[in-house]
Amino acid sequence: MSVTENLAEVRSRVENACIRSGRSPEDVTLIAVSKTKPVEMIEEAIRCGMKHFGENKPQELRDKYEQLPKDLQWHMIGHLQRNKIKYIIDKAALIHSVESVRLAEAVSEEAVKRGITMPVLVEVNAAGEETKFGVSLAETEAFIRDIAPLPGIRIEGLMTIAPFTDDPETNRPYFRALRNLSIDIGNQNIDNVNMRHLSMGMTGDFETAIEEGATLVRVGTGIFGERNYSL
Ligand SMILES: *Cc1c(COP(=O)(O)O)cnc(C)c1O
Repeated sequence: MSVTENLAEVRSRVENACIRSGRSPEDVTLIAVSKTKPVEMIEEAIRCGMKHFGENKPQELRDKYEQLPKDLQWHMIGHLQRNKIKYIIDKAALIHSVESVRLAEAVSEEAVKRGITMPVLVEVNAAGEETKFGVSLAETEAFIRDIAPLPGIRIEGLMTIAPFTDDPETNRPYFRALRNLSIDIGNQNIDNVNMRHLSMGMTGDFETAIEEGATLVRVGTGIFGERNYSL
């Protein structure tokens, strides 16, 4: 299957999940996760009208940004080391993976240096998996209150990477917990915090995530095919 065919299928599944759950398709943005994939495949997705792309390595995001049209929106979705913020600070539209005060401070500092405000999401480890980054559900509100005053960032919501599973239903409780937390935090009206985004759902579970309120879904394999890390 080509990127064009895959995209048509993923888009129709996104739309159907919206219709099923009484949501407007405009409220859900499909992010094509292009990590490890060549620029040519991204160009095919662009010809199909895609504007949002996700990468998990800062240098790869920077290199692709430089080779492709400047009207795209790049999403930094992977673990970010503080010394690599400089590669993406003026290129990423949104950083999905802020999960420590030190990282938030460093992003803020780089943004202030460039005179910008960086929109960020807080990464939540909703299932409490040991292998995953992210703040626990219980600590998220306090964490947000700690970093909200930083001058170079604006908190725009929550992100989670749900467990890998063959049955998306098993992730529904995590998606629901994230949405409920996002509503609770939104109701606190914390300065410099809005909860407009819920970044959740990947190839295996994006329809369930949409049914539970995702506004950003991050789909890689379903659009570009399996990744080969041994290349
Ligand atoms: C790789 C990745 C994705 C996409 O995963 P697929 O299962 O290929 O759709 C989504 N989110 C994050 C954070 C990723 O690292």
